[in-house]
Amino acid sequence: MSHLFKNVRVLTLDADFTEYAAIDVQVRDGIIAAIGAALPPEAGVNVIDGTGKLLMPGLVNGHFHSPGTFNKGAFASMPLEIFMLYEVPPFDCPPVSSRVDYVRTLLGAVEMLKGGVTTVHDDPFYVPTVGMSRIDAVMSAYRAAGIRATVSINMPNVAESEKYPFLRELLPEPVRSRMEEAGRLPGDELTALYRAYIERWHGVDGGRLRASVSCSAPQRVTPDYLGALSALSAEFDVPYNMHILETRLQRVLGDVRFDKSLIRYVHDEGVLNERSVIIHAIWVDADDLDLMAASGCSVAHNPICNLRLGSGIMPFRAIAERGITICLGSDELCSDDSVNMWSVMKQAALVHNIGDPDYRRWPSAGEILRCGTANGARAMRLDSLTGSIEVGKQADLVLVDLDSLAFTPLNDLRRQLVFCETGTDVCLVMVGGRIVVEDGRILTVDETDLKREVRELMVEYARQFREVDRWVTELEPVYRQMYERAVRHELAVNRWIG
Ligand SMILES: [Zn+2]
Repeated sequence: MSHLFKNVRVLTLDADFTEYAAIDVQVRDGIIAAIGAALPPEAGVNVIDGTGKLLMPGLVNGHFHSPGTFNKGAFASMPLEIFMLYEVPPFDCPPVSSRVDYVRTLLGAVEMLKGGVTTVHDDPFYVPTVGMSRIDAVMSAYRAAGIRATVSINMPNVAESEKYPFLRELLPEPVRSRMEEAGRLPGDELTALYRAYIERWHGVDGGRLRASVSCSAPQRVTPDYLGALSALSAEFDVPYNMHILETRLQRVLGDVRFDKSLIRYVHDEGVLNERSVIIHAIWVDADDLDLMAASGCSVAHNPICNLRLGSGIMPFRAIAERGITICLGSDELCSDDSVNMWSVMKQAALVHNIGDPDYRRWPSAGEILRCGTANGARAMRLDSLTGSIEVGKQADLVLVDLDSLAFTPLNDLRRQLVFCETGTDVCLVMVGGRIVVEDGRILTVDETDLKREVRELMVEYARQFREVDRWVTELEPVYRQMYERAVRHELAVNRWIG
């Protein structure tokens, strides 16, 4: 179907930040076909009156984990290393059903679409293990929701006790053995699964669904698998997700295990390049930043998650001024607790102000809008397709009502988008030329049925979760010792305040 936005204000977020006070935008075959004054409506076109509204590119969630979606608000704030005990228990445990995989992915996708997110980069992890039926469930949910999704498989393959500094020696022997005996897939088996996944899902639905690869984090996989993923990333030209230096403890791990920073480790392993998406990049130093800049990698910045887990403040300006692409992510729904990219943009625009007394270096609203759109597309290697309003690009568009409290009075569009808008004024969302949200309602999914099913599934899910809770109670004192020992380990870099 063709659409014609008439008389609409447009913020293109193209390279020149082009804006139009009132213009027409034509969408044909899923593509932005024309931008111009008084475009004539073609036969059968759906005319959308844009008077008093803003058309802007759909937001891009550059980092997300769909499996966290049932755990929004479930946890107190705690450091990543303890938080992850709930997320990816280090012992064998029963898997959730494929229906849970499907429904929680769909729930996250609906929340994103209603808030104007048209593209997501999901890094789902699978507990205790992964198989094609679980992957199919996640991808089918994205297909049903109508969002543009790039999706990896996050499946570590080393024992829990190897992922952290000091943990082996701190764990009581029976617990350590139990962790070491927990099932893990060898790298070649995981690589074969990836290949089958890419053949099955990469490019499906006119390219709306795509694959990426993920090592989770370099210390969580064997070196051969780390390298095999990089080879797949090159072969299919897809992004390579790696969580690096999210926490202080991970910097300590580099010191005591690798005798180098984890950024230098991936560089030395030959897997740091323009396809790498470095997630978090908080505890990086100047040497790391030089390596990252030379590689052409991107950074996924998750400012709310970084505060929720007390991870630290990412050196935004030091990264940006080296020309490294910074995109924004919500991370998962138990470490942000919503999947609202407006909140993420606002937090990103604010938190760095306390990290640098030179206020001329603080992020501008325009810069943050670029991080939340075009940069996300670039990190996903989709910048020729989406992330800005330009003729020839996919029609991934959001219509925002400017006759709302957030924009009354309208003083500065970019600042009000970042600092005033919460997502409630998103009135229409289009992905690849298909309207998926209209008048605040999701059109692709029956939201009432979805919420009812979530509540039903939570009965089984909560029962499984109580078992995890029991393990965490047992393990938390040991992990706290590890954490405190890492805090005492001296470092030359500091990303905490106070
Ligand atoms: Zn993450």
